[in-house]
Amino acid sequence: MMKSVGFIGWRGMVGSVLLNRMREENDFLKIIPHFFSTSQLGQDGPIINNKVFKNLKDAYNLNLLEEMDIIITCQGGSYTDTVYSKLRKNNWKGYWIDAASSLRMKNDSIIVLDPINLKSIKTALDDGIKTFVGSNCTVSLMLMALGGLFSNKLVEWISVSTYQAASGAGAQYVIELLKQMGALYNVVSKDLSSNVYSILDIIKKVTKKIQDDKFPLKYFSVPLAGSLIPWIDIDMGTGQSREEWKGQFETNKILGSKNQVIIDGTCVRISSIRCHSQSILIKLNKNISLKNMEEIIVNHNKWVHFIPNNIEDTIFKLTPSAVTGTLKIPVGRLRKLSMGDKYFSAFTVGDQLLWGAAEPLRRMLSLLINI
Ligand code: NAP
Repeated sequence: MMKSVGFIGWRGMVGSVLLNRMREENDFLKIIPHFFSTSQLGQDGPIINNKVFKNLKDAYNLNLLEEMDIIITCQGGSYTDTVYSKLRKNNWKGYWIDAASSLRMKNDSIIVLDPINLKSIKTALDDGIKTFVGSNCTVSLMLMALGGLFSNKLVEWISVSTYQAASGAGAQYVIELLKQMGALYNVVSKDLSSNVYSILDIIKKVTKKIQDDKFPLKYFSVPLAGSLIPWIDIDMGTGQSREEWKGQFETNKILGSKNQVIIDGTCVRISSIRCHSQSILIKLNKNISLKNMEEIIVNHNKWVHFIPNNIEDTIFKLTPSAVTGTLKIPVGRLRKLSMGDKYFSAFTVGDQLLWGAAEPLRRMLSLLINI
């Protein structure tokens, strides 16, 4: 029998990418979808296979939610915190698939990234686990890029600097970044269209605008256009941000590691629209050749692509603009570092809304609708 699947958060960044992927893969033919909203109760939902899903249901109505075999939510942590435990307390036995981080630390949840941990997911299903959570976007993208090194148990530690897109923070943040960019352009548009301008005057006007009280700052709190923000998520109280903390915790939970792989670094928000990039310093526990390293990386999964370490390939193929909207995981800038034979650098980019969020959830849903 076809399963009833409830969708919450389907119009947000992750949710709308999830729906698009499901349309592309004809996943909606295999389920009975129900669309919920936290803010648009009774309004029209999405169009799927030429049909408008009318009359959005109340995402806080437990009776309606309990009728679902599977709930997939991309609404965010506070929604999960409000609803999940009430449903479980009411003895709801359905499957819960979630993009938010709230349930990732729970012992009875599995973080899903099937090209890396399909075996653990299947064992969990056999053991009756019902809660499956997508991992942090940079964690998924790093594991997709370097999965071969992890599966060969070659990594001693990793230090990473991230360059994370505005859409990683949600739909409203993308809109604010675009407003910031527009405000900067508008203040110098006349100067730019004339051929005689002083670059120092232009920089002065733009800088003044960035520092102006009226610059759009409702969501980011500080300028992102023309700047960057070297802090993402809350303070763990140790000098580490929660985004940085997730790197080691979630990677090791996904890998099911007995010996923790050490991962740490600095997470930075930049003004790209979509796709997260990561500059990675890797210490291996063994001296292998660069060629061997390259083979191990590319042979791990069909989405990873090796980008030769030269200017042309790097600037055309290893950027957010080259990768956006695709499932490709390019890995480049691979070289041995001057620190020693076991030290390598790598740079990788991936669409954080696809492999970093929606795609592992979609694939988990596919697994569930086939059991
Ligand atoms: P989002 O874009 O902010 O969407 C969340 C909800 O905000 C929507 O479902 C919608 O709920 C509401 N909303 C309010 N204004 C909106 C607008 N103008 N356009 C669209 N939706 C609007 O959040 P998200 O980035 O998808 O993140 C959802 C969850 O996934 C979070 O827990 C996040 O941490 C996690 N996650 C995000 C990413 C990412 O790259 N963005 C990656 C991995 C995990 P209603 O329809 O009910 O009003």
